[in-house]
Amino acid sequence: MSTTIPQKFEFQTEIKQLLDIVIHSLYTEKEIFVRELVSNASDALEKLRNLQFTEKNIYDDNLALEINITSDEKSNIITIQDFGIGMTRDELVKNLGTIAHSGSKQFLKALGEGGQKSNNLIGQFGVGFYSAFMVTKSVKVYSHSWKKDEPGHVWSSEGSCSYEIEEVDGQRRGAKVIMELKDDCGEFAKDWRLKEILTRYSVFVGFPITLNGTKLTSVSALWLRKKNEIKEEEYTEFYKFQSHSAGAPRYRLHFSADAPLSINALLFVPQDNTEKLGFARLEPSVALYCHKVLIDAKPKDLLPEWLRFAKGVVDSEDTPLNISRETIQNKELVEKLNKVITKRFIKMLEEEASQRADAYNEFYKEFGIFLKEGAALDFTHKDQLVKLLRFESSLTEKGKTTSLADYVSNMKDEQKEIYYLVAPSRAAIESGPYLEGFQAHNFEVLFCYEPVDDYVFNHVHEFGGKKFLSADHADVKLDNALQQGDAISQSDIKVLAQWFKDTLGEQVAEVKPSDRLVGSPVLATNADKLTSPQMRRMMRAMKKDDTLETVKVNLEFNPRHAVVKKINALRQTDQSKAELVTEQLFDNSLIAAGLLENPTRMIGRLNKLLESVWMNTMIIRFPRPLATAFAGKT
Ligand code: ADP
Ligand code: MG
Repeated sequence: MSTTIPQKFEFQTEIKQLLDIVIHSLYTEKEIFVRELVSNASDALEKLRNLQFTEKNIYDDNLALEINITSDEKSNIITIQDFGIGMTRDELVKNLGTIAHSGSKQFLKALGEGGQKSNNLIGQFGVGFYSAFMVTKSVKVYSHSWKKDEPGHVWSSEGSCSYEIEEVDGQRRGAKVIMELKDDCGEFAKDWRLKEILTRYSVFVGFPITLNGTKLTSVSALWLRKKNEIKEEEYTEFYKFQSHSAGAPRYRLHFSADAPLSINALLFVPQDNTEKLGFARLEPSVALYCHKVLIDAKPKDLLPEWLRFAKGVVDSEDTPLNISRETIQNKELVEKLNKVITKRFIKMLEEEASQRADAYNEFYKEFGIFLKEGAALDFTHKDQLVKLLRFESSLTEKGKTTSLADYVSNMKDEQKEIYYLVAPSRAAIESGPYLEGFQAHNFEVLFCYEPVDDYVFNHVHEFGGKKFLSADHADVKLDNALQQGDAISQSDIKVLAQWFKDTLGEQVAEVKPSDRLVGSPVLATNADKLTSPQMRRMMRAMKKDDTLETVKVNLEFNPRHAVVKKINALRQTDQSKAELVTEQLFDNSLIAAGLLENPTRMIGRLNKLLESVWMNTMIIRFPRPLATAFAGKT
């Protein structure tokens, strides 16, 4: 029978442990207590709304389904009131004095395992109510159940070992939680502070919320609505709100799934890649919700790293597969969510790429770098991501791209590898010596403009059974049958190679006649297989001082080229001029490889060369006496 004398209860042992942790050490972001209590209020309202379909006899049935929050800065008190289902005396004991579900054990275990660092454990484990004790001296819960013949009660506690329950008259339906804040938590009674917290965590709650008499603007939880009932502007507004952006998104992916998990997701790709613009590395920003209540705004493992450019919301409800906030903590579950969402996202990109290639190219210009990162590092999705990569090539027009699938299907029968060249621009590749041999064979070469491309190909390794090979690599073997013109003799080639090596000394590892040069006299390839020219450029960009060892390259020369033939002749008649020209030729090859580290050394040499050219010209053109006069001075 009911009584008006307050009755004292001991908290269950686990609650005592929990309270001890909550009060003394746990949370850095104390503000989450607002989210937890609002989410309880919202749950209670939701339950009432469901009851209204079946129950005729509901207490206070005319009350609006809403949440009212008031705060008083002077007395440091916050009140959160809802008109939901409320609690009977037994329910107060059961719900606020014990942890009934299995989550409690798991929760305490997780706390033991470094839970101190997580601000979300409490909500995830469904023990959110107790978060109130982080910030309060005392909590009172006035409640009247929806059941008409139950009396109202007040539950009160100071967060130590016990709580009291007393019967009270004149209660409205639902629950009213009155919190007296600790002295150092007064900020939470400030209107602006509460508003800030509510806007962050609770705007998607499906019931109106008023704060100190003012209604908060709510944003409808679009992701839970049917696609065909949502207007374009609503999506855009939501995107702007959620991603703090000014305009519309580039792509949108809205889907729900029931198996293997119950998921509602609304993801966006922004217009711009801010990382590319030089801003800091993006943080994951697809938020995780459970039943419209924010669990984690930046969940780390919800999506793979490379998808950090995506914005949006993933909501995983506890139907039908019983995913509750207790299990969000569960790694396995997050992994499953990750899998499902990533799969859908990639599928969307595949569709875009095949159906709207131009728009996809635009997307790719901004975000392709993330797909490359995924192709190199995300083992699970590597194969699909590689197919989404796009490159200009020696056979595309400037600005147009090809895919690896197209590349491979266009390969010549005698072509064994997928060739690529990395350089800052198309012009740089086209004017260099590396392309000509491939062009002579009509082999397509992918043009890559990002330093990371080399790294990506090294990691991806092959596509369609064909290995990637940088076209400036020493390993490249091209059939030289196509080359024209007379070469110097085999024995001269041998001697000249050795002479080049002696002349260039330390700077070259190996010198050999080339099978891939057509119109250029020489080219440099990287002697150090692990450090490609691109890699060196990146390393140099990262190091301020000159601590990188001098580059060592392999030099290939074209025995058919006029300059090479000339040097071969000159080394026997004018050794020092032959050396001068060779040094210059070598520097030219380094420039083409992007490896010339000290251009100033060229100045003196070029002056000398110019001088000798001029002399020769004068010897021919000037009247004899004058020419001999000049010639005599050289
Ligand atoms: P969870 O909400 O995850 O179940 P909480 O610790 O937040 O865990 O709340 C414990 C229980 O207390 C809830 O399941 C609910 O039954 C009850 N409860 C809390 N707040 C309210 C409320 N405002 N109205 C009705 N019941 C509530
Ligand atoms: Mg709760």
